[in-house]
Order: sequence, then C-alpha cells, then structure tokens
Amino acid sequence: MNFTIKTNSETYLHELEDVVRAFQPFASLSVEGEEISASVEQEGESAKTTIKMRNYPILSRKYDLQLPLTSVFIKRQLKRFLKRDFYDFISSVLGKTLSYGSLTGIRPTKLFYELTEEGKDAEKELKDFFRVSESKASLVRSIVQTQSGIYGAETNKYDQFVNVPFCPSRCHYCSFLSEVINPKKGNLPLYVDALLRDISCTSVSKERRAIYVGGGTPTSLSAELLDRVLGAIHAKGEEFTVEAGRPETLTAEKIAVMKARGVTRVSVNPQTFKQETLDRIGRKHTVADIFKAYESVRRGGDFVVNMDFITMLPGETFEDFRRSIDTAIDLSPENITVHSLSIKRGSVFAEEKYDNFSDSLAEKMSSYARNALENAGYRPYYMYRQKNTTGRLENTGYSRPNAICKYNVDIMEETHDVYASGAGAISKRIFGDGLIRRLAEVKDIKGYLERIDEIIEKKTAFFEA
Ligand code: SF4
Repeated sequence: MNFTIKTNSETYLHELEDVVRAFQPFASLSVEGEEISASVEQEGESAKTTIKMRNYPILSRKYDLQLPLTSVFIKRQLKRFLKRDFYDFISSVLGKTLSYGSLTGIRPTKLFYELTEEGKDAEKELKDFFRVSESKASLVRSIVQTQSGIYGAETNKYDQFVNVPFCPSRCHYCSFLSEVINPKKGNLPLYVDALLRDISCTSVSKERRAIYVGGGTPTSLSAELLDRVLGAIHAKGEEFTVEAGRPETLTAEKIAVMKARGVTRVSVNPQTFKQETLDRIGRKHTVADIFKAYESVRRGGDFVVNMDFITMLPGETFEDFRRSIDTAIDLSPENITVHSLSIKRGSVFAEEKYDNFSDSLAEKMSSYARNALENAGYRPYYMYRQKNTTGRLENTGYSRPNAICKYNVDIMEETHDVYASGAGAISKRIFGDGLIRRLAEVKDIKGYLERIDEIIEKKTAFFEA
C-alpha cells in the first residue's frame, strides 16, 4: 500500500517515512498514495498524538511529559510518542508487526543506554513502549551486559581507523567505495604513499586504544605494501585488527607481516560455505580457499579470528545457512559476526532489483545463529541495523569470552574519538555534552590522491581545534 504522509512538523517527516519503509522496504512515498496524517502537539505538561487515514478509526492518545521539561528532552519525547503511535497505526492497517517495532534511525543499544540513564527498566520499555519483540529486547539487553567493562571505558583514549578500499572483485551486495584491483592501473603504490602521509600527518594528544585496518580488503595489497601501511601505524601492544575479508588474498608472507607488525586480530570472512552462493554473489574464491586461509592464519600466530556470515543470501535455504554456521562453530574462531543481507543503493543487487525477501526465513536464520552460537559459548557483544535488510533485522557480532573487539563496541556506541585515514574514512571527535563532530575524507581514490595536501591540512586543524 502506498502512503502520502502529512504531518504538523517537517522535523518528524523523515522519521515517519522510515517507519513506513521498515514495513515496506521499497515503498515509494513520492507518488500519490493513501493520505495519512500524523500530528503531535504539546499542551503544557502533556502531549497529544493524532493519526488519521480515510476509512480507518482515528488513533489519538494523550501522554504526560516527563521531567525535565527542557526543549531537547521534550522534543525527544514528542518524537517517540508520534513514531510509536504511527507504528501502531500502520501496523494495524497492514496487519503486520516488526521485530524492532517503532525503532528506526537509532541503534537499539544506544537507546537502551539512554533509557537506563532516564531511570527506566530499558528492556521492559523497549517491549512495552517501542513494541520491540521479546527476543530482540533480550538480545539488546544481553549485548549491553556483554559490553560491561568495555562500553565507555578509557574515553581518554582514541581509536585509529585506516581504510584500504581495494578488493579482488566486487561482491554483489557491496555498496562500499572499494575499487576492484586492476594491475594495469598501478594506483596501489600511489594510494599507499598518500595513505602513509595521511596516517602520520598529525598527532592526537591522547593515548591510542584500538586500531582497525579495514576497507575493502587490506590484504589485497602486496606483502610489501601491506608492510608499509602496517609499519606506519607503529602499534605498541594495542588491540590491532586487520580485515582479510577475502580468503584468497591471504598468503603466508602477508600473515608473517601482520605478526611482525603487531596485529592481534584478523577477519577471514566466508559469508557462506556454499560454493554456488559464493559464485552467485561475485566472490571469486572457493570454499577450499576459506579453510586454507583459516588454517594459515592459525599457523601464523595467536591471532583472534573473526568470521562474517550473511543471512538470506540469494538461493540459500535455511539448511544452507545452518550448515555454514555449524561449520564455523566447528572451526571455532573467537568471533563470528552474523549480518542480515541489506540491499544497498549502488550494489549489483540493487541494480538487479533483488527483492527476494522473506521475513520469516530471515528471522529463522537469525534466531538459529543466536541459539547455536550461544550454546557454543559465544555471547552477542555489538549490533547495528541497516536499512533494507530482510526482516529489518540486525547485524550482530558474537564473541567467545575475553575476545571482544573493543574497536567494534566503541565505533557502534560512538564513545571514543576516531583518527581515520584513507579515502572515504571519517574521523570523529566526541565531546562530553553528546556533541559529535565528524570529518569525512574525499571518497573516490582519484580525488583522494589529488587532494591529499588539502586533506592533511583539514585533518590537522580538526584535531587541533
Ligand atoms: S569484500 Fe567487502 S568491501 Fe570488498 S567488495 Fe566485498 S563487501 Fe565490498
């Protein structure tokens, strides 16, 4: 069903559109649809919402505003009332509920922390007010519990991110800025030259907490170039992650480089153990390559290893997914991350208009992963949600005890400054009053190489201010 939303405040329009898109991921809101009007009014210390649509009973509710009646807190409450009631209305019109209820545009864990700070029973509030399902509310609570001792610790330190946006081929669900490596272009050494200048252009007047070299697939670089990048980071015993997402890019030489440069964590990402699926999603490697890469990493040092998987890959049945998760558990990496397939703009799947969504299958896969991993001793420790995922579900990182990636927690919860280098990388400064400043670097590689002097100047000023 198409909707045309009218609201008494433009501020809420995007939020309400997101609620419709949560129900109907590819809903068009620009065409004439059923007009639905949604308003919220403050009346002294109370608020009233009204949602109306032709042929449906009006939904109108009154709320007492909570103290303190500061403009920021009032605005937050009005938004929550309106979105929740709008969700209830659309839910009854479409006869459907969503696992994350009215939650859009906010990380569930962030909201959990916010609600706890407001003195509420956050898990209960997620279920009763925001309409989050029992199982998802318990997942969020469980993640917050696992983060204890890591969340918000050492905020006097900063995290470092280095972007190497190159891959051996393009996955069909990818919307990152990664360039497929083309030996004829010869821009890798030039990129590394610029990146090295970017990494060391300015110093941050804090100690470093964690380092993450991602992309892309940083291990797409030759051993020599990888050594130059990792060497420029000068690790001194901090948590140090390198994404080796594509197993075919790993060699004994590169693993030795990582060991010598102080890397402590490596991601080897199968996504699935089914060959037909790997072929179908544009990954140019075999299932055997995954096992080989994993064994080489294990032989090469005492790295903490992460493996990524994706639910709802095209053509995959529940049994296929289950086999992948069970195989991963048998291999026993310290971390396993389960993503929900997201159809992002710019990806091959989006161009192909892939929309083979089944909410119930997505839910079944995600629940299986959680149960199987928890039974095998893993605990969920960070999560985030993306738009246009099957079932509007989450991406969840699971970890064995004492193997949590601090960087992942920090970045998701936005608790630490981030010193970022590389095309498209985003530096962040977190200020005590909740204010976050961001500095994004030029996205495309050509522009990055051409404007590196300007980038360095801006970054120096950003961290000095
Ligand atoms: S490995 Fe990651 S960054 Fe590279 S193409 Fe695939 S999804 Fe994109």
